[in-house]
Amino acid sequence: MSPLHLPFTRSVHDRAAHRRTEPGLVEELLADPATRAVRVRGARVAVTDDGGRPRPVLAPADAVGAHDDGTWLFLGEHDGAGLLALALPDDGAAGAQSGVDDGSDGRWAGLRELTALDDLEQGIVVEAVALAQWHTAHARCPRCGAPTTAGQAGWTRVCAVEDRELYPRTDPAVIMAVVDDEDRILLAHGAAWPAGRYSTLAGFVEPGEGLEHAVRREVAEETGVVVGAGPDDVLYRGSQAWPFPASLMVGFRARAVRTDVRVDDDEITDARWFTRADLVEAAEAGDVRLPGAQSIARALIEEWYGEELPGAW
Ligand SMILES: [Zn+2]
Repeated sequence: MSPLHLPFTRSVHDRAAHRRTEPGLVEELLADPATRAVRVRGARVAVTDDGGRPRPVLAPADAVGAHDDGTWLFLGEHDGAGLLALALPDDGAAGAQSGVDDGSDGRWAGLRELTALDDLEQGIVVEAVALAQWHTAHARCPRCGAPTTAGQAGWTRVCAVEDRELYPRTDPAVIMAVVDDEDRILLAHGAAWPAGRYSTLAGFVEPGEGLEHAVRREVAEETGVVVGAGPDDVLYRGSQAWPFPASLMVGFRARAVRTDVRVDDDEITDARWFTRADLVEAAEAGDVRLPGAQSIARALIEEWYGEELPGAW
């Protein structure tokens, strides 16, 4: 199988990790007119509407202005210019509709709205949102509870009491297109979802667990279906950063060896096997709505189907 084409996985800038420990790096870049900066607030990015399509504002750093309540993050370099993000405090849903407060017509937009980004913009916003959310969640030291401050140009937080450095974490989750020997796909309806919404199964990897085990465990827990234990029964297909707030979705094709479905009625309230004909008919009729075009779930489903399917959340 050739690699999956996945949104939010393209990234062309250099993260230049070796520069993070340079003393005064952020101040130096702020003084450089070539530096470009993006602003983030929680999981939202400052955007302007470009012909109806929101695109991130990548402004000269001095145009972003002074923000005493923000944290500067070093994202890397591109074409000889430094890239920064200014992470502002997350003001929650109340601030979602507010302007960006810089005299422009900019506004705040979530990543899922950003469907028309080039590779540079995509890499920048995913890195900025993921890192900003890690800072928000680690304002205090998890061991002693003391306040922490940002270090290494935004790549650590430092406990003020223990002088201990904390590093950003990513939580791996598995997501899998489970297919049986009749070439049907298993799709499930989540308990919290509106009627008609179906997707692939997914779940977090548990401590001390490998990815293939997590695939078999999640499928069994949520649907009772048994995935084979052979070397070709769980195949890696691709991954996608999903910074809501810190997931890395690791995608697989999994082969079912026992297909009886028994849902847990907790996380999952329905799971069904679809033939290609079943699925396209249900999607065209609107009886089944599939995940959005930006998701690895849809990419896994369409890889199995062989082409694009109609309709989306
Ligand atoms: Zn501490």
